[in-house]
Amino acid sequence: MSYPKLRLFIDGQWIDQTDEGAIPVVNPADGEVLGHLPIAGKRELERAADAAKRSFRGWAALPALERFRIITAATALMRAQAKTIAQTLTLEQGKPLAEAVREVTLSADIIDFLAEEAKRLPIRGVPPRLPNVLSQTVTRVPVGPVAAFTPWNFPANLPSRKLGGALAAGCSVVIKPAEETPATCMAIVQCFVDAGIPDGVINLVTGDPAFISSSLIANPHIAKISFTGSVRVGKLLGEQAARHVKRYTAELGGHAPVIICKDYDGAKAAKLAVPAKFRNAGQVCASPIRFMVHRSQYDAFRNEFVRGAASLKIGSGMEEGVQFGPLIENRRVLEMQSFVEDAAAGGATITCGGKRVNRPGYFFEPTVIEHASLASRVQNEEPFGPIAVLDVFDDLDDAVSRANRLSVGLAAYAFTSSLDVAHRLSTDLQAGMVGINHFGVSQPETPFGGVNESGLGHESGLEGLLGYTDLKLISVAQS
Ligand code: NAD
Repeated sequence: MSYPKLRLFIDGQWIDQTDEGAIPVVNPADGEVLGHLPIAGKRELERAADAAKRSFRGWAALPALERFRIITAATALMRAQAKTIAQTLTLEQGKPLAEAVREVTLSADIIDFLAEEAKRLPIRGVPPRLPNVLSQTVTRVPVGPVAAFTPWNFPANLPSRKLGGALAAGCSVVIKPAEETPATCMAIVQCFVDAGIPDGVINLVTGDPAFISSSLIANPHIAKISFTGSVRVGKLLGEQAARHVKRYTAELGGHAPVIICKDYDGAKAAKLAVPAKFRNAGQVCASPIRFMVHRSQYDAFRNEFVRGAASLKIGSGMEEGVQFGPLIENRRVLEMQSFVEDAAAGGATITCGGKRVNRPGYFFEPTVIEHASLASRVQNEEPFGPIAVLDVFDDLDDAVSRANRLSVGLAAYAFTSSLDVAHRLSTDLQAGMVGINHFGVSQPETPFGGVNESGLGHESGLEGLLGYTDLKLISVAQS
């Protein structure tokens, strides 16, 4: 399977190497080096920001319908090349090929939806109070050149949310994909190039994340920052953006609770929970983590969940039928080990998994931990991997307050057959997205975002698009 040559893309040109050297990109399924990533230096970053600035006016001035035509020509290419892009994605990220193909086609859907919505951005007329004023219009304008930083867990989807929103709104972009998974984003950028995006509207840089983000945030040409990643880095970039009064959208971590009520069949909930939990080896910010199950359903849930987790086919994402691939890096395997050891030391039971898989690459078993102390790390820090924590509850109030006890609030889930309880939980669970009786809260048409430390603003959906615009009031009086 071939892996593409890694390059930067600045002002309409692919760049093979820089004076700063290169860093290796590794296949997480076997630890083999796939390629080398050029490191952008000061010169490349300035050129990218200059190109984004220069191209911005022309792109913003195009009618949304014209932008739609170019953008949807790019998504048609993404769909036509979905299998090839997905192979690249699986090589560098590890997820099963079928998941990667779905990610690429869903990414095209996300971009299409945003381009479509941009044709009918909500513009509001406000009746004037002064007699000589003819109209007051609250309109939307593109915010300006965007710096976008994306992580490694969804190498197609996360760049697509940012590229899709920014380009549809009329913004130019400098994007930095994760160093671990750059080639998928490069392939998507190539689709835009082949579809005729003007030079400078998309620029792609890679290298040292802290250097790139601090340089671009401080660059006067960049108007907006969009980041997806950890709470720690999100706070850091937020501070830098605030210093320059730049717009900032951040999709940060979560620690999603799941409440399974006494009136919902435990085994049925477990059948839905296994694929939701172990998709992408649990490296999903909306991944269900803390399962709180009513005592009457606990055994049924636990037995089915453990059976499902233990029967997942583990292997390289390229192998037929594999359902569970590697983690992105060795550091993540060590992190999982540390979560498990800490929980066990605090008295938890490791019911299933809990160990590195004995094969090359960065595999960690699907893991189920029961009754971990509330003081243990796994109850407080996002594991961002294949670990599920199971607890019993008797009183629903108790479960809700446990669900809401952390400073993050991205996704929360609840299972009940009672309309009253569903209504109550959808009100009481503090999260940006609440799934009742299913886990499918992330769709191209719906806003994705959290409350509290889970981030600022949204991506996808109409609200995601609006994040790439500024409001402008235009008030016209008689001449
Ligand atoms: P990390 O914080 O080191 O890196 C996460 C991503 O942020 C990487 O893609 C990295 O390139 C980028 N990044 C790091 N420092 C940056 C900087 N100064 N400027 C710009 N980008 C920067 O964490 P990790 O070890 O790769 O992943 C572990 C944690 O990251 C997880 O616990 C999880 O909370 C979080 N994470 C969240 C998401 C998400 O979708 N919200 C995705 C990936 C990782």
